[in-house]
Amino acid sequence: MDAYDIVIIGAGPGGYTGAIRMAQLGFKTAVIEKDKTFGGTCLNVGCIPSKALLQSSELYYEASHDFADHGIKIESVKLDLEKMMARKTKIVGELTGGIEFLFKKNKITGIKGMARIVDANTIEITDANGIKVNIQAKNIVIATGSTPVELPFLKFDEKKILSSTGALALDFVPKEMLVVGGGIIGLEMASVWARLGSKVTVVEFADKICAMMDQDAVSVLQRSMKKTGVSFMTSTKVTASRSVGGRVELDYESLTDGKKASIQGDVVLVATGRKPFTDGLGLENVQIKKDERGRIQTNAHYQTNVPNIFAIGDVIVGPMLAHKAEEEGVAVGEFLATGFCHVNYATVPSVIYTHPEVSSVGMTEAEAKAAGIEIAVGKFPFAANGRAKAKGNTEGFVKIITDKATDRIIGGHIVCAGSSEMLGEIVVAMEFGGSSEDLARSFHSHPTMSEAIREAALAVDKRQRQG
Ligand code: FAD
Ligand code: NAD
Repeated sequence: MDAYDIVIIGAGPGGYTGAIRMAQLGFKTAVIEKDKTFGGTCLNVGCIPSKALLQSSELYYEASHDFADHGIKIESVKLDLEKMMARKTKIVGELTGGIEFLFKKNKITGIKGMARIVDANTIEITDANGIKVNIQAKNIVIATGSTPVELPFLKFDEKKILSSTGALALDFVPKEMLVVGGGIIGLEMASVWARLGSKVTVVEFADKICAMMDQDAVSVLQRSMKKTGVSFMTSTKVTASRSVGGRVELDYESLTDGKKASIQGDVVLVATGRKPFTDGLGLENVQIKKDERGRIQTNAHYQTNVPNIFAIGDVIVGPMLAHKAEEEGVAVGEFLATGFCHVNYATVPSVIYTHPEVSSVGMTEAEAKAAGIEIAVGKFPFAANGRAKAKGNTEGFVKIITDKATDRIIGGHIVCAGSSEMLGEIVVAMEFGGSSEDLARSFHSHPTMSEAIREAALAVDKRQRQG
């Protein structure tokens, strides 16, 4: 029977990134993946295909609506959806193939098959032909990720009732699309299909969309999405669904005045969250404890109640983000090598890759106030930034939140085109325990959108020069 120092179950960002660090640290490492390709949700049906379609659809929308402002006339812009989808599929294929290469390069054994924990040191693997083999592991890392939550009256068929996976693979532009859930997936997918011509309605249970994000920033995004034709119904509960003449009809109830009505669409995307995935994993064989939401419980070193079995990524507590899973995978490797590991959850960035992008790190004003921290806030609008004007991207702002007593940065929020690439500066400043003064005294090339970060940092002390 093959034997390894570490066997990771699941080849998503948590599993494959962790495996590379473990191999670098000298551990004999294997990764088991039940799907046909490595890369997990992120590479196959998540981060990467969604960003490919967001990019293509944004270019299509810009060419159709925005080029004329720059004095560029295009007689007719045509959509080739098949080609757009083929481009997405090619990118996914290149990146998932890249993981195979990284495994070989780092001498990691990649195994395709469904893993089931038999006991604390034995894993059974069933391949696509149903053939079973057992392998031995000194340590096991569960990195099995998450799957979309289904509503009882909206079961995914991926044709009319879509999860994010179906919404990333439509072969036609629906005339009308309903999106249940105004979270990150809902807004990203609503953006893609609205830009390509769908009339999209987002139905959200809460009284606001993306409730956890900076609400000033979210309102800029919501205004902008409305301009592309997306409608929003908040405080609305979907109660039933049916098929009517090949379309989907949803019954809903307003949570503000109790009024009931229904709405129809050609397809409905259900984006009401994701849940940890542990089906068929054999957790019962080792009595691994889960919390009330089905997340595997771990200590600060990602150890479960069985000391040589670890868990990371979407399957444990915390934001369901690829970079969070990656850091946890690395941390387990370092813990096994040194007895120490640390992930700083105060600096996990989060981005909604819409137009404009909403990028956040650390606390919102509301969270800081709820934690009883006296804050100072500096805000700077892109309407007053020269590069933003030159680009024609003046929507949005930068907001820097500091602890008033020390000037230490505790939060940063940027809403503008491309803010995902700008946020890193604030993340690094926070990681170094930086202050708004540190950002304010750092050079920023002129003219750049990043100058708005410096101006917002200066604005914490009311010293901004532009705007
Ligand atoms: P996963 O990536 O889910 O990987 C788990 C793997 O384990 C899967 O491949 C699964 O097949 C395998 N597995 C499960 N059980 C077994 C078993 N018993 N045996 C063998 N293999 C098994 N995050 C971001 O940070 N940025 C984004 O832009 C972003 N966009 C997203 C867009 C969409 C549409 C979705 C759905 C998600 C997005 N996410 C994004 C979230 C991100 O994909 C996840 O947070 C991330 O993939 C979690 O990584 P993971 O390694 O924990 O699990
Ligand atoms: P989410 O938790 O971000 O949003 C779900 C939304 O659905 C919430 O606003 C919630 O109030 C609403 N909701 C829940 N039940 C509802 C109901 N019955 N009717 C109407 N609304 C309802 O979840 P998601 O958008 O499905 O995304 C899942 C995970 O994937 C998230 O944790 C996110 O971090 C991750 N993800 C990240 C990115 C990114 O980083 N850009 C992109 C996509 C997904």
